[in-house]
Amino acid sequence: MSVEWIIADVDGCITPEESVAWDLGLFSRFAQTVRSGSLPPMTLCTGRPQPYVEVLMKLFDIGGPAICENGAVFYSLDDNHAWYGPGVTEAKIIALRELRMFVETDVLPGEPDAFMQFGKEAQFSVFSKKPDIFPRIKDRIDAFVQAHESVEVVVTESHYYLNVSLEGVDKGNALRALLNELGVEPHNVAGIGDTAGDLPLRDNVGFFAAPANAQPAIKSVADYVSPYPTLEGMLDILKHKQIAG
Ligand SMILES: [Mg+2]
Repeated sequence: MSVEWIIADVDGCITPEESVAWDLGLFSRFAQTVRSGSLPPMTLCTGRPQPYVEVLMKLFDIGGPAICENGAVFYSLDDNHAWYGPGVTEAKIIALRELRMFVETDVLPGEPDAFMQFGKEAQFSVFSKKPDIFPRIKDRIDAFVQAHESVEVVVTESHYYLNVSLEGVDKGNALRALLNELGVEPHNVAGIGDTAGDLPLRDNVGFFAAPANAQPAIKSVADYVSPYPTLEGMLDILKHKQIAG
């Protein structure tokens, strides 16, 4: 295969999962590598909200489109345009906002170690440094969903986030739509991810790699697992013969 595009997850692959300052030397090396033009074009595919992705795109000189909010939102830097991903409807957005209101007013006040992540339009995420509390929060969400037919969501966990996404909206569907728009065949795409949320990415690319910190379920389905973690892993993966040629 020849890689024509690289699609990379952000947290755990480019930036640390932990809420810490980034290694500027390493980050700068990565930005220069992406900007150098020596690699196939790259874009991002992340759970992060559009404004966060916009900043990264400016740092890496990625014109887009990028996939934000786990596939619920696209953003193109070239024309500063954000739009909803495949499967997102107005009715689903309204139902999701009802669920979010329930989590904010009924669940989180009793969970001092959990916080709503602000800034998302078509999904929401609860952050906690103590992810062992997530099953308890997920049970409350499941109960609300059972009682409200119009709310169709999928709840997944990454390292420090409990992500509530619209049913049928995931990185895979968004990626297929994106590749269609770019006119690129999935088998000519390289994907990089680290958590279960990246499995749809794995299923829609020809070559999939993971950094050393990836979850075991992701490592077991990767074509290449770097011995290095996070951004060091990403820089190592970009040197792989499948990508660098
Ligand atoms: Mg990740």
